[in-house]
Amino acid sequence: MKFIFVTGGVVSSLGKGLTAAALGTLLENRGLKVALQKFDPYLNVDPGTMSPYQHGEVYVLDDGAETDLDLGHYERFTSTKLSRMNNLTSGQVYQTVLNNEREGKYLGKTVQVIPHVTDEIKRRIHNLAEQSKAAVIITEIGGTTGDIEGLPFLEAIREFALEAGIGNTCFIHVTYVPFIKAAGELKTKPTQQSVAKLREIGIAPNIIACRCEKPLDKELRQKISMFCNVPLEAVIEAKDVDHSIYEMPLMLQRERMDDLVCRILHLTTPAPNMAYWQEIIRKLIAPQHRVRVGVVGKYIGLQDAYKSVYEALIHGGVANDCGVEIVQVDAEEIEKHGAKSILSGLGGICVPGGFGERGIEGKILAAKFARENKIPYLGLCLGMQIATIEFARSILKLDKAHSTEFDENTPHPVIALLDAQRKVTKKGGTMRLGAQPCQLTLGTKAAELYGSFVIQERHRHRYEFNNAYREKFEKAGFIFSGTSPDGKLVEIIELKDHPYFIASQFHPEFLSKPHQPHPLFKGFIAAAHQTIHHKPLYVI
Ligand code: GLN
Repeated sequence: MKFIFVTGGVVSSLGKGLTAAALGTLLENRGLKVALQKFDPYLNVDPGTMSPYQHGEVYVLDDGAETDLDLGHYERFTSTKLSRMNNLTSGQVYQTVLNNEREGKYLGKTVQVIPHVTDEIKRRIHNLAEQSKAAVIITEIGGTTGDIEGLPFLEAIREFALEAGIGNTCFIHVTYVPFIKAAGELKTKPTQQSVAKLREIGIAPNIIACRCEKPLDKELRQKISMFCNVPLEAVIEAKDVDHSIYEMPLMLQRERMDDLVCRILHLTTPAPNMAYWQEIIRKLIAPQHRVRVGVVGKYIGLQDAYKSVYEALIHGGVANDCGVEIVQVDAEEIEKHGAKSILSGLGGICVPGGFGERGIEGKILAAKFARENKIPYLGLCLGMQIATIEFARSILKLDKAHSTEFDENTPHPVIALLDAQRKVTKKGGTMRLGAQPCQLTLGTKAAELYGSFVIQERHRHRYEFNNAYREKFEKAGFIFSGTSPDGKLVEIIELKDHPYFIASQFHPEFLSKPHQPHPLFKGFIAAAHQTIHHKPLYVI
């Protein structure tokens, strides 16, 4: 078994997660089974309780783990199935160590960062290796080299490499080579200093991936090679991609990173066949069609808050050979200026998940605009609840209909707390989470799109459709196209006489990949594109 560690230097947001994921794509295509894992040095037990402003999206796994959004990249770029084993935070490490201490497991010893905390970190790498039976484990260390809170993780991987023996580990350091405008050139000093910092800790990187805006010429590569003590071929240019993050595997392949990693790890494998991936890129760069869709949310200024939604929309585009221009719409702007002035001209409208009251009325207006003007609508979790409230108010004439999340005293609680949530007081990890089965109703658009009757989709919510209103809705033409197998929880709804109005209580965006676009996104983009061109709906 081989181990790759990905660290980061100089600044955060360098795309370490993407580098790890893209390397994963290449290694998988060389026939190697790959497992990916992320270590986050913060003290939160998981990101589930963190604000999107702090952390971006919370990515949910099948087993209900609420994890870092880099795990989304891992799943989108590779075929690995992830579980809570694949994301470790300092909070979890300390929780385990302190529990062990209270249980007397350390037999009277003084409990210390080294060895107890570092041993726990190493144990998590070994655990993943055992469970995944992967040939290569890629572990990404969050944060930046030099951060105090990251030190135990770096110490742990240093020790791990020592124990794993020569030829079994490979350290990749992702760093930044800034372009200084005034000097008109790229500068290597921050990289040199960051590598020096890493070497101080005892880690000598095998490969340096240099994030840069401009090409890294031979002279600069030589300089980095010399001062950072890595062979010239191990200085990898990771220039900003031109069009799409999915170009990353091809870019790393051009730089021969996978080849080098295999040589360092003594792995003999054939070169990867990336033809199918190239076709995806072709569709992203030069699609036959184009469409603009709006995403109506409240964290619109934040690139990372709806990461998986944006990616899944793009995948839906790949499935239709259609470039997707995503217009990020602030729900509060709709409240101020009206839906028509803001949403006109869009091929489709998507209302993603969310919590809290801000922007809710704007989202309801967006759903109304989509329903009335026959613009394709895709509601995701909160987006389904919004569509329900809008239908109750406009069609059932229940003026004050609402979700009890936003109005506890509404006379018409069409969305209400799940029974299982009534006694829940703790916030962390207590929502209805993870993969749950859903049974689709024969003859619905949802069943047609999925092409099957029982599906598994990932959830993250506390509120649900209130069954007391089911009959009323049904009589007015609201279709329940998917429920939990016992029929009790509404999972998907749709409207008839509309080109595409589908909303789910689950988050389909977490299961979409560029090479396996999710059916609901595929259908949504097909409909959005057709609507714009005034053609009949393309049947999938
Ligand atoms: N706030 C809603 C709930 O808890 C929706 C959650 C979501 O969109 N993820 O049910």
